[in-house]
Amino acid sequence: MSISPIKISLELEEQPVEVKAKQGRPLIFAIVLGMLGALLNSIPVELAYNISLVIGNLAFIMAAAYLRPVLTLVCALICVTPLLVVWGHPFGFITFGLEALFVSFMRGRGWYLPTADFLYWLIIGMPLTAAIIWFTNTDVDAYVLFSSFKQSINAVFYTALAVIAIFIFGEKINEWIKSQQPPLVKSLKQYLHYILWVMSAFFVVGICLFLSRSLNEIQHQQFEERLDISSQYLSRIVDNYVDEHVKAIAQTASKLSVIEPSGYSDALSNVHQLYPGYLTMLIADHNAHLIATSPSDRMKKISGESYSIADRTYFSQAFYNEAQYVSPVFLGRGFGVDPIVAVSAPIYYQNGDKPVGIVEGSLNLNMFEQEAKQIEESGSKIAIILTDENDNVIYADKDLALTTLSTFSFSLEQEKLKHELMTIGEKGVNAKKYLYRQVNLKNDWKIFVIVEHAELLHLIEQQYLTIFMSLFVIFIFVVLLASQFAHTLNQPLDFALKELAHGDGKQGYKTIPFEAPTEFLAMYRELQEGQELLLKHQFILEEKVEKRTRELNKANKALKELANKDSLTGLYNRRYLERKFSELQAILSRNKATMVVAMLDLDNFKSLNDEYGHLIGDNCLEYVGQLMKSKFDRRSDIVARFGGEEFIIVAQHDEKHGVVQKLEELREEIACHCFPYDGEHYLGVTISIGVVTAEASYAERIEQWISIADEQLYWVKDNGRNKMSVKHLE
Ligand code: GH3
Ligand code: MG
Ligand code: MG
Repeated sequence: MSISPIKISLELEEQPVEVKAKQGRPLIFAIVLGMLGALLNSIPVELAYNISLVIGNLAFIMAAAYLRPVLTLVCALICVTPLLVVWGHPFGFITFGLEALFVSFMRGRGWYLPTADFLYWLIIGMPLTAAIIWFTNTDVDAYVLFSSFKQSINAVFYTALAVIAIFIFGEKINEWIKSQQPPLVKSLKQYLHYILWVMSAFFVVGICLFLSRSLNEIQHQQFEERLDISSQYLSRIVDNYVDEHVKAIAQTASKLSVIEPSGYSDALSNVHQLYPGYLTMLIADHNAHLIATSPSDRMKKISGESYSIADRTYFSQAFYNEAQYVSPVFLGRGFGVDPIVAVSAPIYYQNGDKPVGIVEGSLNLNMFEQEAKQIEESGSKIAIILTDENDNVIYADKDLALTTLSTFSFSLEQEKLKHELMTIGEKGVNAKKYLYRQVNLKNDWKIFVIVEHAELLHLIEQQYLTIFMSLFVIFIFVVLLASQFAHTLNQPLDFALKELAHGDGKQGYKTIPFEAPTEFLAMYRELQEGQELLLKHQFILEEKVEKRTRELNKANKALKELANKDSLTGLYNRRYLERKFSELQAILSRNKATMVVAMLDLDNFKSLNDEYGHLIGDNCLEYVGQLMKSKFDRRSDIVARFGGEEFIIVAQHDEKHGVVQKLEELREEIACHCFPYDGEHYLGVTISIGVVTAEASYAERIEQWISIADEQLYWVKDNGRNKMSVKHLE
């Protein structure tokens, strides 16, 4: 296998044209997204009454995933503009503008969009909404909690929508613009947390809002039905009650016309006993003077014998118009100061042409109160108002604080609302809004059955509170579930990684002892195979490297030898001689031994070269070198070629070893040797030797030794050559 060098090529991301083109796009992106959001926001999705779901805000949440806070704010402001018209106030700019800034800022710091948005509504959005309502709305109690919850649930929903939109369109958007936000690097746990939260928030809020919407409709219908039933029931009762009593008066009048006036009092008492609905009853003569009352003791309370009721309409209408009359509500006089409704009829004596007086009964208005209370109690939130033909209050629920006989004033509101609402009292200040039913009775009286709008809001508020609480519970579940999921996925992953890191596959790999997805197991198998292959290659590679190292070491050693040795003779060179000499000299001088340094020079070598050629000369040098090496073969002996045809031998001097003797033998052997030079003829060569012996400590530097040996050599050269001269230094 051959190892090819790794090619490293750095590809710089050079797309200058595209980058430049993308630079202007964030602003366009912000505006386009803003406009899409505005379009969605201008079609509000109604949840209940005038409560609508805001969906278009998903646009600026999407923008926050790609853009810095300022551009996200631009997107949000465009997005929110239609709400100015839909809601009729500009506060959306504040809450949603801040939301856009906050979410984009937190996204820049590595937060996920839903978490950032949830946090915003929890710590800023809800308190801010509450504060705005507090300062602008007088009917605070009904709206603060409700609106705060509604807005935050709404936000959770459109954020989840935004995240889903990014899931779907993210790649396309990334192709089109360069994100200004840093990439999100998160652990598996955090990622699962994020996905689970988005999915559950989306489905839970979506389904809850949908259910709450139908529930609200059902509740609204129930309210309407209750209003219908109550108003019908009450109208029937009041109609019957009035009818019955009007008939009773008519019958009484015709009864009285056939009896003597002396019997009036008893007759009246009898009738009154039958109709306890009348608070009081009276009979007046043609002068409008009372002639009988029931209860009869009332007469005594009235000062003066001739108490006149001439100014009362119930007298004039019955007596002069000769018709049965039912009065509007008015304040009683004489008998008491209760608000009363008088029913009167003319009395004819013996069925004559002209009336001789009238009979009157004052209807007990408390009776309405009892009936109304029954209805109010059965559906506790319902209140009732009964007015006469002049719109004066006959009866009104105490909580409404309407005084009897006062004119009932109210206004109806339909703008912006699908359902008509009634506002009682002056608009604005403490004005409450009511769902209502109005029934006109036969005698032009009116019954209003009302239920406070806040009651309905309160019900929706409770639903939203439930959704919000569920979201909290889900949030906790999501955190726990994400941890568990991550653990389930990480556990086999950790195991596999450890197994791959420590095992070399020789004993095989352990199977993962946890539940793991099949893709995961396949990946583990592939990694095992990969690692085995890698290890095999590594083994081959190691063997190769080892072989190469061996070769290299060998070559190195040879090179070292080469550097220390003379190539022709194989003896040590001058450089090595100098180093080895110092070592040997140091050891010998420590042992107080003596040392021999000999200098050897071939005689007339120049003429030999000249005569026989350099090759023959080289052969001679080689021979002499080998001979020297074989003679001086102790480990401490140094035999070196000093240069040209000169050699140096350094050795420990001892008599037993006889170095000087050996040198002499060497000289003789060379002198006796015949060199074949052309296959037929032979030639001889001689050598001159200068020797110095002394205690090793005589001198540290080889030059000093050599100079003495050289002197001896000179002497030999001058005195016939082929000799040895030795100088012993004491
Ligand atoms: P003397 O007896 O006085 O030493 O005379 P000589 O000729 O040996 O001395 P000289 O110094 O005049 O000459 C040395 C010669 O040795 C010169 C050169 O041609 C020869 N020589 C030196 N190195 C080598 C070598 O490596 N190979 C061969 N063939 N000859 C060499
Ligand atoms: Mg020489
Ligand atoms: Mg020579």
